[in-house]
Amino acid sequence: MALLEKGAYPRNKVCGGCLSQKSIRFLDRVFSLPVTALRKEGLLDSAGTGYALYIGSSRILAGDLQEPFYFTRRERYDTHLSRRAAEAGAEVYEGVEVTAIDHATRTIATSDGDRYAARVIIGADGIHSRVRHSLPAGVVDPERWGRNLGWALELRIPREEAEARADRDGAIRLDAGLATPHLVLTACPWGYGWVFPNQEAIIVGIGGLLQKNGKGLPDRFRAFLKNLGLSAFLDQKPVGYPLPFGNYIPSPAHEGTVLVGDAAGFASPILGEGIFYAHRTAELAAHAVDRHLTSGAPLTGTYTTLLNRRLIPELQAEMALRDFVYRCLDARMHIPLAAFMKATNTRVIDAVQGLRSFRGFRRDDELHTAVW
Ligand SMILES: Cc1cc2nc3c(=O)[nH]c(=O)nc-3n(C[C@H](O)[C@H](O)[C@H](O)COP(=O)(O)OP(=O)(O)OC[C@H]3O[C@@H](n4cnc5c(N)ncnc54)[C@H](O)[C@@H]3O)c2cc1C
Repeated sequence: MALLEKGAYPRNKVCGGCLSQKSIRFLDRVFSLPVTALRKEGLLDSAGTGYALYIGSSRILAGDLQEPFYFTRRERYDTHLSRRAAEAGAEVYEGVEVTAIDHATRTIATSDGDRYAARVIIGADGIHSRVRHSLPAGVVDPERWGRNLGWALELRIPREEAEARADRDGAIRLDAGLATPHLVLTACPWGYGWVFPNQEAIIVGIGGLLQKNGKGLPDRFRAFLKNLGLSAFLDQKPVGYPLPFGNYIPSPAHEGTVLVGDAAGFASPILGEGIFYAHRTAELAAHAVDRHLTSGAPLTGTYTTLLNRRLIPELQAEMALRDFVYRCLDARMHIPLAAFMKATNTRVIDAVQGLRSFRGFRRDDELHTAVW
């Protein structure tokens, strides 16, 4: 197996690095990396044991979490996983960009002039996926993709600077010690703002549906900084990057090619959390590839069936909740929405953490069980 990566590890990825319990459980089950091992490997930067949720400048929910949200640094995390792939037998080629894919002959051309022939191609090449763009019309519905594509802006502020230069003019008071993950629902339409703690920095970001925000996101990011009392950082340019926000492709496959992760638009439609979904779709795709190569099972059909059984119903339920929340915000129904959130709070947190399903908030292991 060859893994072609256009960058070189350690390479960074614009990302808050938040690992919900969904990801933590996956890392333990699939890579035998429980929290103790993640710490030992230097893959956990910090942990958020509490949370604060805002609508506008009103803190509507806050408290301790039963299980923390952990935060990783992607340059370390992704480097570790590529090393694990190499240890498992993959030939890892860095600095090799895929430039063209010929599906008829199942060959790949790369930036260094080489060609690779493969029985199966897995497009794990992120939101701008060249593999996705090479697929025939009909695999991707461009209208659905565009309607649910998100965009995010993020700024990393060194902790010491944030502490020294924060003012008291913001409507939102960040907790002392800047240790609590903050989520602010009205930071932008159909999206939210976040402040995530890292050991040496805080990560401030906003992200939401591109179609609802147009070119307004930079202004909203500046307003968000002011609201947080971080006007001192208005002159700093955040990094922008697209992210999936519900634009997953229901059947992301064609003949011998499958897409996983951001390439196929898999991420939480409420939060844009994508690390777990990249892992889980990769696991389902690996199973489909294995069955295809060992027993001739059709690749597209097996992968699509697995996605429809193990992941897509959950994403559909999460989309329904997302649409309800943002329609309430559009209608300025802040008070009833806050009441709804207070009533469902622990169950929604459990669902985000993967301890319950978004389908009726029942206990459900469908997201986590291995595929045999
Ligand atoms: C601002 C922001 C904050 C986020 N915060 C979080 C968070 O806190 N928690 C969370 O879970 N998710 C978060 N996400 C989402 C998360 O970053 C992605 O969902 C996740 O990285 C998807 O993983 P992936 O492997 O599919 O794609 P990527 O991580 O994008 O990896 C794709 C890889 O393919 C390589 N590549 C691309 N094109 C080629 C090519 N032609 N040839 C060879 N190699 C190629 C790239 O170099 C890259 O290494 C955030 C996203 C954004 C934008």
